[in-house]
Amino acid sequence: MQKRVLICEFHQESDTFNPIVYGTESFASRRYARGRDAYEICKKLPCAYHGMIDAVEKEGGEVIPSISLYGGSGGRVADETMELFQKGVKETLDACGKVDAVCASLHGAMCSESVDDACGEILSFLRDLVGKNIPIAASFDLHANVTDRMLGEADLLCGYQSYPHVDFYETGYRAASLCMRLLRGEPTYLASVDVPLLAPPAGYTSLEEPFRGVIGRGKQLVADGALLDFTVFNVQPWLDVEKIRSNVIAVADTEEAAKRYAGEIAEAFFEARDGYLPDLKSIDEIIDLAESEQTKKPVILADAADSPNGGAVGDSVAVALRMLERGSKITMGMFVVDPEAAEQAFRVGVGGEATFEVGGKFTPGMPGPLRATGRVRSLHDGCFRQEGPAGKGFANDCGKTAVVSFGGIDMMICEKPGASGDPQILRHFGIEPKLYDLVVVKANTSFKVAYAPFAGVICAADTPGAGASNLHQLNWTKLPRGLYPFDLPSGYQLAPARVWKRR
Ligand SMILES: [Zn+2]
Repeated sequence: MQKRVLICEFHQESDTFNPIVYGTESFASRRYARGRDAYEICKKLPCAYHGMIDAVEKEGGEVIPSISLYGGSGGRVADETMELFQKGVKETLDACGKVDAVCASLHGAMCSESVDDACGEILSFLRDLVGKNIPIAASFDLHANVTDRMLGEADLLCGYQSYPHVDFYETGYRAASLCMRLLRGEPTYLASVDVPLLAPPAGYTSLEEPFRGVIGRGKQLVADGALLDFTVFNVQPWLDVEKIRSNVIAVADTEEAAKRYAGEIAEAFFEARDGYLPDLKSIDEIIDLAESEQTKKPVILADAADSPNGGAVGDSVAVALRMLERGSKITMGMFVVDPEAAEQAFRVGVGGEATFEVGGKFTPGMPGPLRATGRVRSLHDGCFRQEGPAGKGFANDCGKTAVVSFGGIDMMICEKPGASGDPQILRHFGIEPKLYDLVVVKANTSFKVAYAPFAGVICAADTPGAGASNLHQLNWTKLPRGLYPFDLPSGYQLAPARVWKRR
């Protein structure tokens, strides 16, 4: 009998320090599709949903395509979008009757307005819908916050093995092909080790040590046939929730192997923890460097804390404020989200001058706004295409956009954020990053490929924001005890792996 596998998707990365609710319209501007449409759209993209389709079909299964809601990063997801997803899956199931398995493309660090563990909630919903005897496999982001609820509801969790993420398709494929293995009744064990560690994503990549070595060890074990699959979940830290931790999962055909190698990878991951913290410089140190002209080329200030790609708002003017306070004479380019100020610039018109109040209006505790007289240089509809290499050609829409100059500071002011690590968010609007002494880039890691060829130096800044790399700076209210880099007990030993036989 041909196995029927339902595929669905609900993917968004939440930053609970960002107060702006992420609604259905934000998903729709990226991807919101149902049934056959979702199948056709995803088949053209290197995404997890596509990987799931191919794995199921390659093994002779029939894909029952259901809803795809694919968003970016931002605040908590609207409760009504959670309901929309559940309704979408229910409708698919009502129309098709029984299925043999479910594959869900999720993020793993998504919160809704009313639920911290929104992905656990979704997996519970899917479990209730199909019953205990149907396998459920989920694909996750590497930055997922894996909870006991998820491990209890899903049979399999597979996360990206790269950061910057380049293996969306492969991760969906791994999850669905392990799911097909369960349907064949082959022995499959999943082991999990919790790792009490929060690391800012600006501090590590899978391309550099020590994180590269940790991922490399897992890949070697899979290549050698010792493991079927593994994931190192280096949780994204901007979740002010009661349960947060990193986690390692290993999947094998014996209990012994799953347990042993999950423990071994987790030890290596945990041991290297000091190597995941970025070397942060103060805003003043970086302005000093740009003013000194030592580098002869633009100094890039990486303001990861306010990176919309990482889930922050994009409303920071912290660096511009310091520039004005210091009376700095150098030139600087940047972008900021401020719908009111953009609107004002449209009223003032090109060439006009006015006193603006820009930035710092959304993120709690953010300094600002910046109050200064500025001259409107240009007005735009906010649409641009990324130059990449990451996301080359992707369309962005920042809404009403204005470039306003405050002395030597050229500021792209827009209604809503776009791909903030791509040079086109400045270049397209006439702010050529190569020509400035200092450029503020609101991004974590991927931007370096585009900026490195013309940058004098790239500095990670200790800036405020919903995506701050300095985790001590965030206004935590629920942070659990015993986590690195906060109050990990000295001599802490990882607990042994927990193992489940799946099916
Ligand atoms: Zn991620």
